[in-house]
Amino acid sequence: MTWPIDNNAATLHQDAFVWDAHACLPLSPDIDIDALDRHRSAGVDFVSVNVGMDMNPVTDILAILAAFRAGLRRYPEKYVLVETFADIVEAKNSGRMAVAFDLEGGVPLMDRPEMVQLYYDLGVRQIHLAYNRNNSIGGGCHDDDIPLTELGGRVVGAINAAGMLMDCSHTGYRTSLDIMERSAAPVIYSHANPRALVDHGRNITDKQIDACAGTGGVIGINGVSLFLGDTGAGAGIIADHIVYVADRVGADHVGLGLDYAYDLGIDDLPDGVDPGFWWPQSAGYTAGLDIHIAEPETFPVLTETLLDRGLPESDIRGILGGNFQRVAKDVWS
Ligand SMILES: [Zn+2]
Repeated sequence: MTWPIDNNAATLHQDAFVWDAHACLPLSPDIDIDALDRHRSAGVDFVSVNVGMDMNPVTDILAILAAFRAGLRRYPEKYVLVETFADIVEAKNSGRMAVAFDLEGGVPLMDRPEMVQLYYDLGVRQIHLAYNRNNSIGGGCHDDDIPLTELGGRVVGAINAAGMLMDCSHTGYRTSLDIMERSAAPVIYSHANPRALVDHGRNITDKQIDACAGTGGVIGINGVSLFLGDTGAGAGIIADHIVYVADRVGADHVGLGLDYAYDLGIDDLPDGVDPGFWWPQSAGYTAGLDIHIAEPETFPVLTETLLDRGLPESDIRGILGGNFQRVAKDVWS
């Protein structure tokens, strides 16, 4: 593979395990999953692909899971659908990219904690409990700040029992701290940036960063311009966010979840859903706002940028994917 970076950086990028903790394809069963080849070409070794948010009907989520699973099986020379941790190692060793799925929010559990295991069996390896808005489980980050509910406590137990990654992205402040206190396993932020650098409700406070690291978890830096505070969303500003979190809690607790959303020309908003409710204007999601997201091709450039910043190679390997790999090895049953 050829990337527009120097040889040193390319050698490191090729050899390191590169983990993208969150990416989005259009939520439609009709897409060609081989769009992910851009991730693979950028040297990504594992990607967590979203299959639904709190606003998506469960019937749609099941159709998407079926289609994405079938899609991955159509390209056995390129992709490995993750069953166990060993699959991600095997994928890299054979020049393929490992793929697992994530849910953004707990509404698709239908108030039934046992649904966690069913989604696990279908390939979901990461879940957050609320998406921007409050639900029966807990609080979202753009809503009233409520604690984890009694049902939420049982959902946390079910996620721990299933061996799924517990993700506090998009979750409200109190609920996230409750989850991190209760969870028996490390908790992650798959895609969230420090509020100290950009004061946006989707970003997380120092206290949340400290609590996540305290569980042994990892904060994945998000590539969305609105949360980076830079319209270009390039490797330089992403590196600034990485360095902030690494300086605060240690490089062992930093990763990447660039949140790239493939635009394949499909409008996937479910019928009747009001985008202004889920992405409120008061939080800066103004209609027509030009939001840019770091593209998959940013990954190799980021490796070079981190080398240029003088970070030790061992820290860079951890940030690129070693840290999320460590947590997944610990958590996935
Ligand atoms: Zn998200």
